[in-house]
Amino acid sequence: MATILDGKKLSLTIQDELAIKVSERLQKGKKKPHLAAILVGEDGASKTYVAAKVKACERVGYQSTLIKLPEITTEKELMLEIEKLNNNNSIDGFIVQLPLPSHIDEQKIIQLIDPKKDVDGFHPQNIGRMVLNLPTFLPATPNGILEFLKRYKIDTIGKECVIIGRSHIVGSPMSILMARNYYPGNSTVTLTHSRTQNLKEICLKADIIIVALGKPEFLTADMVKDGVVIIDVGITRVNDNSKKNGYRLVGDVKFDEVSKKASYITPVPGGVGPMTIASLLTNTLNATKLKKM
Ligand code: NAP
Repeated sequence: MATILDGKKLSLTIQDELAIKVSERLQKGKKKPHLAAILVGEDGASKTYVAAKVKACERVGYQSTLIKLPEITTEKELMLEIEKLNNNNSIDGFIVQLPLPSHIDEQKIIQLIDPKKDVDGFHPQNIGRMVLNLPTFLPATPNGILEFLKRYKIDTIGKECVIIGRSHIVGSPMSILMARNYYPGNSTVTLTHSRTQNLKEICLKADIIIVALGKPEFLTADMVKDGVVIIDVGITRVNDNSKKNGYRLVGDVKFDEVSKKASYITPVPGGVGPMTIASLLTNTLNATKLKKM
């Protein structure tokens, strides 16, 4: 039976470490780190994620500002909000919760964020710095996964690592980070996607599988070898009348059967999600040390 990679517990440990650093700052007469979030529209999952980020800020002693904008917000209006945050010296870092409504060009918005306040690590400048191994904000979810591997002392050197999904926010950066000449990293990486042939054969050779495609219970026991390390990034709301809110959260991995073969596995919920929040908070503290535009 696999060791469960407990993201909830580890995220709280990291938050406790950050809270100590915040009180040290305050003792030195410095201000609280300040994270802002822009939420456009009424998407239920996005509202939940942003609420969790705000709550985590309170827990570690950060200041937080939530800017809620209606679904009908124009691209131009959103751009003006971003310029305001870029120019607001009291804000150390901010995020624009994705996805945005379809009438807004996500890339255009991301490129407008001051890279020194881009605590989600999505700006092309920060992605470029990541590729070149220069100090930067690493994208929050991949960074949370690295932290998991590091804190649980999971061997990644020379291992076969398969990543399923090549999104800009998870799969693609993850493939770069796992291939870097660092620990955690130095893996031999295969980045797979919807056009990949023979995915099952590829997965069966993997020592580590990072699954981020958004298809509930996609990875099954017959696709993995004994002793594999499984990182499940997927979160899908599946209707469930037995729940008070009418749904449950399901990962991309068929947990019950894959956990019997794996050496380590992340649960959903309580795995990668809380680690993403811990990374965002870490990036925000680091943002306090940078001189902004
Ligand atoms: P995304 O943008 O939805 O893209 C999905 C990726 O999966 C694409 O690259 C797609 O390939 C690939 N894919 C689809 N079907 C496939 C198949 N049958 N075989 C192999 N690859 C396939 O991905 P995302 O934004 O990274 O989100 C993925 C999941 O992670 C979602 O459930 C999301 O909610 C979750 N998520 C969780 C966190 C967290 O903090 N826990 C953070 C971010 C995302 P193509 O490129 O060929 O279309």
